[in-house]
Amino acid sequence: MPEFAFAGRSNVGKSSLLNLLVGKRDLARVSPTPGHTKHLNFFTVNGRWRLVDLPGYGYARVERAERGRFSSSVMQYLADRPNLECVFALVDSSLPPQDNDLEFLEWLVEHEVPFVLVFTKADKVSPEAIQTNIEAFKTHIAQWSETSPEIVVCSSAAMQGRTTLLNLIESVLPPEHKKPAAKKPPLRKTPW
Ligand code: GDP
Repeated sequence: MPEFAFAGRSNVGKSSLLNLLVGKRDLARVSPTPGHTKHLNFFTVNGRWRLVDLPGYGYARVERAERGRFSSSVMQYLADRPNLECVFALVDSSLPPQDNDLEFLEWLVEHEVPFVLVFTKADKVSPEAIQTNIEAFKTHIAQWSETSPEIVVCSSAAMQGRTTLLNLIESVLPPEHKKPAAKKPPLRKTPW
């Protein structure tokens, strides 16, 4: 089944976005304690694709050794998963590019993992500020990659970006199998 992974720094708004995306309140727990999600969580959506919730990176209070362990399992997943269609790399609209975001994106480019750059919490800042941050990210990415990534601006609070994300996912899924029309019962050949 095609997989779409969601990654980002702890507190970037990933749980909120995943809940918005699949229309469930408690799919991913919105944690009061950043760095809470430590596993790779797989959710099958509509029997057609799998949503992969990756642990947040860059949470300073998690032990360094633990951080390393999480990231190596994530990196292994990202590098060795043939059915991984795309990573949605989440960054905070209200912040300029952060070092660990850039490290992660550079790693994706190096390992040729396709990704879409998703700007979260767009309701928090002006469209101009978001645009400035988008340009800053693009400038960095242009140093490593000839192609510019697809960009989606989202806000879970304002329910913005859901359709765009779902359409992107839909665009790479194989067409949905239509159920064959129910066969009509054969006509009786006998006259009674
Ligand atoms: P995660 O750690 O990446 O899973 O982030 P969460 O979804 O738990 O959100 C972290 C914090 O950001 C919480 O306090 C959320 O209420 C807040 N948050 C998440 N999405 C949005 C958003 O779209 N707009 C605003 N203003 N706040 C958000």
